[in-house]
Amino acid sequence: MRAVLMGPPGAGKGTQAQVLAKGAGVPQVATGDILRKAREEGTPLGREAQSYMDRGDLVPDAVVIGLIEERLRQEDAAQGFLLDGFPRTVPQAEALGQLLAGLGRPLEDVLLLDVPEEAIVRRLSGRRTCPSCGRPYHVESDPPPADGRCQSCGTELVARPDDRPETVQARLRVYAESTAPLRDYYAAQGLLRSVDGLGPVEEVTARLKAALQG
Ligand code: ADP
Ligand code: AMP
Repeated sequence: MRAVLMGPPGAGKGTQAQVLAKGAGVPQVATGDILRKAREEGTPLGREAQSYMDRGDLVPDAVVIGLIEERLRQEDAAQGFLLDGFPRTVPQAEALGQLLAGLGRPLEDVLLLDVPEEAIVRRLSGRRTCPSCGRPYHVESDPPPADGRCQSCGTELVARPDDRPETVQARLRVYAESTAPLRDYYAAQGLLRSVDGLGPVEEVTARLKAALQG
């Protein structure tokens, strides 16, 4: 599997990517998770990314592209990968295309999770996230364990600061302006499959699996 999972914030990319990547035995590469971890550890990358993330803006292309180049050159990505939250701009998609062409391993699939805005707002307002492994929960549809700790790794769950309503609106605008154009970009390459992201998690997973070519 060499695939991109795209869609608006809160569409279910992280939820689905964890299942699909595990099933295919490839790493889930989520730029948001990598940036949050760097922020928590206070590394130079994390400090640079923080103000953009807090405002709901995109971190500059050069920073994220550098991060992905380094990550995809690691050995565990040689047999495939599932990108979650990258690319988010046309320059990022172009850089990815060049990197993969250079490695002789082009993309096989771009899956777009289609979820209407009302559902996105509901999902993000109830999201709880594991800051360690990235596993998302939802206070209603996928409630966290009673002790408030991640079922997979035991870390205390948090509500992401950028899931506040004002920041969610900013992120939706950024998606419409900078990321939605990737639909046409990948459709023109014959790679894009649009998948309905509403309904139970398992049903969405089954639709995504059916849409995968590679
Ligand atoms: P993204 O990675 O696209 O931002 P997440 O996977 O973190 O999205 O999901 C956003 C929120 O929606 C989380 O709280 C998650 O538990 C919830 N969620 C994910 N998929 C579904 C679904 N099919 N139905 C209802 N809620 C969902
Ligand atoms: P996510 O976890 O995918 O919702 O991403 C959280 C935040 O991290 C975004 O709002 C951006 O600030 C930043 N981010 C994640 N991925 C990217 C990317 N590919 N390009 C730029 N910024 C990103």
